[in-house]
Amino acid sequence: MPRKNHVQKRILVSGGAGFIGSHLCERLVSDGHRVLCLDNFFTGTRENIAGLARHPAFELIEQDVAAPLSLEVDEIYNLACPASPVHYRRDPVQTTRTCVMGALNMLDLAHACGAKILQASTSEVYGDPQVHPQPEGYWGNVNPIGERSCYNEGKRCAETLFFDFWRQYGTQIKVARIFNTYGPRMQDDDGRVVSNFIVQALRGAPLTVYGDGRQTRSFCYVDDLVDGLVHLMDAGPELVGPVNLGNPAEFTMLELTGAVGEAVGGECELVFHPLPGDDPRQRQPDIALARAALGWQPHTDLACGLARTVAYFRERQPVTELLDGD
Ligand code: NAD
Ligand code: UDP
Repeated sequence: MPRKNHVQKRILVSGGAGFIGSHLCERLVSDGHRVLCLDNFFTGTRENIAGLARHPAFELIEQDVAAPLSLEVDEIYNLACPASPVHYRRDPVQTTRTCVMGALNMLDLAHACGAKILQASTSEVYGDPQVHPQPEGYWGNVNPIGERSCYNEGKRCAETLFFDFWRQYGTQIKVARIFNTYGPRMQDDDGRVVSNFIVQALRGAPLTVYGDGRQTRSFCYVDDLVDGLVHLMDAGPELVGPVNLGNPAEFTMLELTGAVGEAVGGECELVFHPLPGDDPRQRQPDIALARAALGWQPHTDLACGLARTVAYFRERQPVTELLDGD
């Protein structure tokens, strides 16, 4: 039932069947908007959007983000892109194509129909950062020819396109730099550290620590992140970004193994593997801008977010089933 004074918008979410995208689609539908979810299911799943599939305010467009389309929408969230290193390295040429041609296509659409457009950029634009924590003014330390470059440089080029559309055509842009986000609907085989550790812990398998485990990340629970994206989209036109969105609480991967062990309720064995190429040593968002300009900050601490994520994985695949499959 639309709320009083509520303006219903038509909103396109590219990558809407993915981990963050599906939570965003749900949030926007529950806020009373019409949502068009564009996805090619490269890493997303129909299961992620099953709860929305029959909702009258939800529509699925199954296609590549780089393929032309003609639509009238008020807002576009551009999330289409594999985000796990395992997946974006699987077809690096396609990753760069998705980042760059996808952004260009979505910007052309925004320009044609006068829509506001938000880019899901990433902390990876800071590369292996030499400034810590990372403020938006830091230009980064990125290898242009390494294993992660298809994603890092693709996302940097997408930011360039966003700012050039803003300067050249006056397109209403918003650029969010998202830091490591986790939560329900990560895939079992996603390859990112939180889902890997949880799935391994539930299976009673050793947790795979890459390198010495002393590298750091700062983990944001998905509901907090989605709230930050919506706040940024709704901010006035003077705020184009980039704006860091993430949880500044920073952990080593060894500390994360302990936190996952506690969430699962047992001691976990560890096994050490080589560190992948160009893996950043440290990462923590400076979110002063998001706090001041959006009045936004995360509220879910790691223990609470992990408990909810573990509950999700347990419900999907009961431990006995996981153990039977081993
Ligand atoms: P995800 O892999 O779960 O979701 C990406 C979605 O994009 C999937 O549904 C996938 O099928 C779709 N997709 C990929 N290529 C496509 C293409 N060419 N055409 C259409 N759809 C395509 O990843 P996520 O964690 O939900 O990330 C969503 C966005 O947020 C990505 O742009 C990612 O770069 C960004 N981001 C995420 C994180 C994080 O920690 N999760 C951090 C920084 C930035
Ligand atoms: N990592 C790990 N074990 C895993 C998966 C990842 O130790 O099973 C490490 C990885 O090398 C990195 C950190 O955890 O240092 C975060 O990895 P993830 O892929 O989740 O995110 P990103 O590297 O893109 O920040």
